[in-house]
Amino acid sequence: MKRAFVIGHPIAHSRSPLIHTHWLQRYAIAGSYEAIDVAPADLGSFLERVRAGEFAGGNVTIPHKEAVFALADSRDELAEEIGAVNTLVNRDGGVFAFNTDYLGFLGNLDQHAPGWDAGLEQAIVLGAGGAARAILVALRARNIPLVHLLNRTIDKAQALAIDLGGRIEAGRLADFGDLATGAGLVVNCTAVGMHGTAFDGLDLGRLPATAVVTDIVYVPLETPLLAAARARGLRAVDGLGMLLHQAVPGFEAWFGTRPEVTAELRALVEATL
Ligand code: NAP
Repeated sequence: MKRAFVIGHPIAHSRSPLIHTHWLQRYAIAGSYEAIDVAPADLGSFLERVRAGEFAGGNVTIPHKEAVFALADSRDELAEEIGAVNTLVNRDGGVFAFNTDYLGFLGNLDQHAPGWDAGLEQAIVLGAGGAARAILVALRARNIPLVHLLNRTIDKAQALAIDLGGRIEAGRLADFGDLATGAGLVVNCTAVGMHGTAFDGLDLGRLPATAVVTDIVYVPLETPLLAAARARGLRAVDGLGMLLHQAVPGFEAWFGTRPEVTAELRALVEATL
């Protein structure tokens, strides 16, 4: 029986076991997927267990995505560009790592805001952590000419902009109001919004009427940012679709079947939020 996991610290909040267990049942696959709390100091020994064949592979979540990138034995090209990983596969006794947040993000926007990238000149990305890296690379893949990368800690935004290269301009969250008039897309990649937290003074009033606002936080599904966008009549896309779509390649790699993101799966996960 093949085993897979999601590691994080903490990990109890993760919906990934629900998603993968649903697919295991749906496709009648004899396998398991479990949430395992791994402290940062124990990452090295956990990866040894993967190398030893205890698991077919698994997912990596906060705060380990960048640390595991460095600890893995090999990575795909996209993960190298992003500098963070969320999916691991035991390949010939080594840990092969890749990043499916990128695909999840694009799959979700394409599904729920079709045409979002057509003629898009400028985007604003909030946050400069592991998820932001994946999203910046995804926006580059869609040829968005200019991205404003705003973060509470501006040094991190500057470092990330330099690291990734291209037209990424770093700034502070307080710059949002001045940049909003030119932005056709806003992506929240910070932890703000989780459990009812909200940005302080982020005014959506100056965004163009055609702008799309998306949040990758999905607990709650309707974050204060998305509620404010909808109240302004903007297209708002929640982060649950990203979570569902990012899970597809991992499941396929560990269990050999490409699973489908269905309305039934979405409803199942939504009921737990
Ligand atoms: P991370 O690497 O820890 O980065 C966290 C980011 O949030 C940093 O930019 C940090 O700013 C910012 N932040 C945290 N608290 C803040 C506050 N009170 N005010 C302003 N900024 C704050 O985390 P990550 O992996 O990038 O994940 C970020 C969020 O995305 C998490 O909520 C995660 O659950 C969600 N996520 C969702 C999906 C999905 O599939 N939908 C996938 C990946 C991640 P500083 O640099 O100033 O600390």
